[in-house]
Amino acid sequence: MSPEIDVGLVNVTKKFGNLVAVDNVSLEVPKGSFFSILGPSGSGKTTLLRMIAGFEVPTSGDIFIGGQRVNDVPPNKRPCNMVFQRLALFPMMNVLDNVTFGLRRRGGMSKAEMERRAKDALARVGLQGLEKRKINQISGGQQQRVALARSLVLEPTVLLLDEPLGSLDLKLRQSMKLELKHLQARTGTTFVYITHDQTIALAMSDTVAVINHGKIEQIAPPEELYRRPATHFVASFVGENNKLVNGKVVAFQDEEKVEVDIAGIRMLGRAGEALSVNDTVDLFIRPEMITVRPGKGENGILGKVSEINFDGSHSLVIVSLLESKQPLSLNVKIQHTENAPDLKIGDLVTLSWRWDAANAFLSMAQPHIEAEA
Ligand code: ATP
Repeated sequence: MSPEIDVGLVNVTKKFGNLVAVDNVSLEVPKGSFFSILGPSGSGKTTLLRMIAGFEVPTSGDIFIGGQRVNDVPPNKRPCNMVFQRLALFPMMNVLDNVTFGLRRRGGMSKAEMERRAKDALARVGLQGLEKRKINQISGGQQQRVALARSLVLEPTVLLLDEPLGSLDLKLRQSMKLELKHLQARTGTTFVYITHDQTIALAMSDTVAVINHGKIEQIAPPEELYRRPATHFVASFVGENNKLVNGKVVAFQDEEKVEVDIAGIRMLGRAGEALSVNDTVDLFIRPEMITVRPGKGENGILGKVSEINFDGSHSLVIVSLLESKQPLSLNVKIQHTENAPDLKIGDLVTLSWRWDAANAFLSMAQPHIEAEA
């Protein structure tokens, strides 16, 4: 394994009886990076993280940390530390004692040195001055930072984070996610972060691995995941999308650029996977990637504004398509910029998008095909 890789999983599977919780997963986490594992509830994220930490043993496959195969290394001997969703702080101890706890347990260090390191870790998470406070005398966000300091003070090669922002309210979560990203960049510690919250994964990570039913669907930087999803699942799970179902592939303009007929309307898109003419596909189009021009224009899809929902920085406009064989509408996100079109309900509009702003994947439920006699 390359020295640039801090965590490596090679064909790792974990079964609980008949249930395959993690299914033949291979991935590499580059040194010093912020790596997120994103997936819905029950997809296998926690099991994956617990195997890296050493709390679960893989049924098969190998796990490497810092270049060393750690399958047989107990959790306390692995060069990683885990921050849990339930922070497991000691409520009756003060902040400083919570942070020195791991160092005391490890031993071999003077009290003065432990305190110096703990204060340094607290300063890194912006908590200097609160050393003597009890845990129940600080806020939820501050407790979060104590839990991070308590892990960072042990100087792990890899910090494993089990959705630690999950219990915070929305506002705090927003600010903590940026803090966490800055902290990771400052310390250079490799972070492996599991979450079901895509806004967190997209905002913080260098790389995101999307997991579903124990299998990795895609590993990519956030922007690529968002713009070029590799599977139907990633396209539907990550970000908001218009999902137009059961289109038919009618032609290819080049290898990737595909023409799809949806309810009698020709639409351009990017083939997200290998497709052939006549395949039944779903087309995913981001609401913010659709351009709206007032009136009936050339080269676009004609529609009528049926709903306008104001949402602060933008409006979500629902446009009914006028030339489709079945009722069909698209959600369009319009930023409130100077050039934004001034729309009213009932207005005729023309919609268009860059071909690669729409992603086509084989429909999950293929129509029943009669077997030939
Ligand atoms: P969540 O986001 O809800 O925490 P997750 O993605 O972390 O979910 P896991 O906790 O890894 O998912 O669970 C994956 C699957 O393995 C689930 O079906 C779960 O019920 C099952 N599972 C997890 N731990 C055990 C266990 N100790 N014994 C049996 N089944 C388990």
